[in-house]
Amino acid sequence: MQVPSQIDHIGIAVRSLEEASRFYRDVLGLDCGGSEEIPDQKVRVVFFQLGEVRIELLEPTADDSPIARFLDKRGPGLHHIAYRVDDLPATLAALKSAGVRLIDEAPRDGAHGMKIAFAHPQSTNGVLTEFCQHAR
Ligand code: ZN
Repeated sequence: MQVPSQIDHIGIAVRSLEEASRFYRDVLGLDCGGSEEIPDQKVRVVFFQLGEVRIELLEPTADDSPIARFLDKRGPGLHHIAYRVDDLPATLAALKSAGVRLIDEAPRDGAHGMKIAFAHPQSTNGVLTEFCQHAR
């Protein structure tokens, strides 16, 4: 398969974007990209830019949000790592043929117009893994 070009972002599950942002914005001094709601995933996210990589904070917007379930089970913390790829459909096909268990068989809409898909942590050493393709 085509090698991912870089780590795109690291996703961190939080109970409150506002509260969690204080560390990244006020203590570390990172640039904040503003928040965005992703109704499909029942989350509100905010990105902080750090060189070529971003930190993505995810806050649930509903009790049945996957992030709400994650927080109930494990509390706030590292949620996923996202790899940037140029051709997400081709990447998903390659992963599938390599026997990787996919949560998303087809790309779906992420923040900032990205197309995203998740691979199951069972196939990725316990780390929820996202693959994302930026809009051109
Ligand atoms: Zn993400």
